[in-house]
Amino acid sequence: MALPVEEWRRIAARRWAALEPALRERLAAAPLGEALRVGCGLFGPEDAALRRLCGRVRTGKEPAAARFYREEGNRRFGSCRYRDAARLYSQAAAHEPPRSPEVALCFANRSAALFHLGYFEVCLEDIARAESHGYPDRLLPKVLLRKAECLLRLGRLQDATDTLTAVENKMTVDGIMTSPIHLTLLKKLNQLKIEIHEGRGCPEPSREAHVDIQRESEIWEENGSISGASSSLSLNFNTERGRHLVASQDILPGQNLLKEKAFVSVLCPGEGDSFLLQDSSETVWDTQVTNADLYCHHCLKQLLASVPCCGCSYAKYCSQNCADVAWEQYHRTECPLGALLLILGVFCHVALRTVLLAGFSEVSRLVEWSHDDSNKDLCSAETGDKLPSEALDTRAGTKGIPGCNDNGQYQSSYQAVFNLLPHVEKHSSEHKFLCMLSIVAMCKKLQETGLEAAVLNRGSSTMGSEQKTYGKTSDELSPELMIIAEAMLRHVLQLQCNAQAVTVMQELESGDGAVVNKKPVRLATAFFPVLSLLNHSCSPNISVSFSGTVATVRASQPIPSGQEIFHCYGPHRCRMRVAERQQLLSQYFFECRCQACLDELESDVESVSMRNSFCCPSCQASMQGEEMLCCSNKACALSVSRERLSRRLLDLQQQMEKALELLRDSKADEAIRVLLKCQMDARNFLSPEHLLMGELEDHLAQIYATLGKWQEAARHLERSIQLVEMHHGPSSVEMGHELFKLAQILFNGFAVSEALSTIQRAEEILSVHCGPQSTQIQELQEMKTCLLELPRSILQRT
Ligand SMILES: [Zn+2]
Ligand SMILES: [Zn+2]
Ligand SMILES: [Zn+2]
Ligand SMILES: [Zn+2]
Repeated sequence: MALPVEEWRRIAARRWAALEPALRERLAAAPLGEALRVGCGLFGPEDAALRRLCGRVRTGKEPAAARFYREEGNRRFGSCRYRDAARLYSQAAAHEPPRSPEVALCFANRSAALFHLGYFEVCLEDIARAESHGYPDRLLPKVLLRKAECLLRLGRLQDATDTLTAVENKMTVDGIMTSPIHLTLLKKLNQLKIEIHEGRGCPEPSREAHVDIQRESEIWEENGSISGASSSLSLNFNTERGRHLVASQDILPGQNLLKEKAFVSVLCPGEGDSFLLQDSSETVWDTQVTNADLYCHHCLKQLLASVPCCGCSYAKYCSQNCADVAWEQYHRTECPLGALLLILGVFCHVALRTVLLAGFSEVSRLVEWSHDDSNKDLCSAETGDKLPSEALDTRAGTKGIPGCNDNGQYQSSYQAVFNLLPHVEKHSSEHKFLCMLSIVAMCKKLQETGLEAAVLNRGSSTMGSEQKTYGKTSDELSPELMIIAEAMLRHVLQLQCNAQAVTVMQELESGDGAVVNKKPVRLATAFFPVLSLLNHSCSPNISVSFSGTVATVRASQPIPSGQEIFHCYGPHRCRMRVAERQQLLSQYFFECRCQACLDELESDVESVSMRNSFCCPSCQASMQGEEMLCCSNKACALSVSRERLSRRLLDLQQQMEKALELLRDSKADEAIRVLLKCQMDARNFLSPEHLLMGELEDHLAQIYATLGKWQEAARHLERSIQLVEMHHGPSSVEMGHELFKLAQILFNGFAVSEALSTIQRAEEILSVHCGPQSTQIQELQEMKTCLLELPRSILQRT
């Protein structure tokens, strides 16, 4: 999803192939600004095709969709699937016109689902929202009674009584106390009165208490010259390694090294773009969920009761505040471009938001600065060219290092973002053409829809005179938009090497089980100018975690003074062979020379290759070969095509999905049967170390846990953990999450001593990766306290 959707990529590729060779050469060699000028003249025939593509992406508000989602929500509500219902009511609200009785109805319905989930505070917010959006008067008593009940549960007795009085008055005024609905309401009202009279508030702690509480108490000494970094780091610069961070004193595992808020981040809609483009002829809506339904468009916080954008159905926020801030800073420009931004992909979207956040004056200052020949050396200093003399002058300190301000400070600023390397000369000409055409398309649209003024941070009135020259149909872009375009093109090219994925552990929907199952998902793509200073190693010495748009970097092992700090860009030594890693790293235009790569290249022992491989379907010995696989057992010598085994694997994965579907429908026994059969099949052609074997064990553990069969659950999970340890390493964050799960299962099963030792292991690993203040550590400690306080009689039993 980083790049534009495939259809648009194909259109650009066809155009590129059809260009005169001389023009192609000229474009390939041209600086960004000049390439864009040429590109503006070329863009034309693509316009209609792009419009058609945009027509197939749904980002507007559609009444039919609202109806569909509300009905689906009601259906889920009816079968007590309140979480799903709340989500569907949110989707419905996003399609209703703002400040209408319809959207108020969605909020009121959602408040009912939230009430059942025990989120009383959020429920009250939704009721207030419903009231302020014009909730129909005749329906009000029902909602007010819910409000009273929430207040009662929250222990706010006086407020609850006041609300009840208001309901009573309302019902008397309406004067129709005889209909069956009103009679039920009356009954409810009287029942609540009794409860309040008896002071039965707060029967159970409200769920809100468990929603992420971030405690800030870690000791922290900030670096004088790198914003957000610890004082135990220093910024270095040399021809070979470019800019990089080095430990300036001994660092302990778990030590906090950097805390940085993204300069800009854009939520990724999800993986793959098949769901994005719908056939224009069909008007079928589905209940598929994307990141946009689960996380705040602005701060990336998980959504419970989202506030929809007033203009589109795509952007959803955690609060009115986020909606207002986003609108002010960038969304008023992005909102009308919704479909186009999804077509052009996340990189283009990040590029646009970056310039919107930076502001036109800063963008034009830096673009002009980059045109100055004397700064060219500085811009390309890290490509291994000759260095500007100031940078080598040690007395200058960090002053001459690209991206540092005049005081030699490196900050998370637009200047720092601008100085990240675009590697203009290393991208393929065809790729540059695609990026250029995409940026031109975006700028033309900005000019055509009159959004230019917003981009340039100007009132539209001051634009009047200029707009005459560069009107809606003009082939050319105004000089100001050309500057914006050049900056955006630079950012798109930078992103290939400098995009940082923001990932979170997403809770999997598995009912209200006692064990929380999580998987890592890519939430957003962002620029972190300080984090970008770190070079890659396949065997990194840090671990990065995210909370909203803030990245925290911790040492994952002891780092002696003088050693470089390494981040893993993706290809980790535990997960891939050296050849695969080098292949993946080629997108960053460098050959990895980390210790892990050097060791592996030398020894040519393929340690990882066995782990995710097929085995002989006849004798289970290992298989060799590329397209045609041959059994390594000479006596057997069976051969079979890789494609056939891959198909079998795909089949198996589908069966596994089916089992999970069964589990969601509360058919646990059937799900177990399907999974056990999968396991038997898998043993026939997958190596015992294959990750899928672990996944199967993991799912079995999950099902047994939902059935309360803790011993079985623990047994299966332990087998899955062995594989996770093999693939990710014994002190990896993945291992920490698995141990956390095991701890929950053992805790629930009262296996006290095993639980305590598992908690200990999980704590050791997770505190290094996520810090001692993380919610997971807090939960582990709560479990430990609880176990230690159990009466001795139970302890002795185990
Ligand atoms: Zn938010
Ligand atoms: Zn919008
Ligand atoms: Zn490497
Ligand atoms: Zn064989």
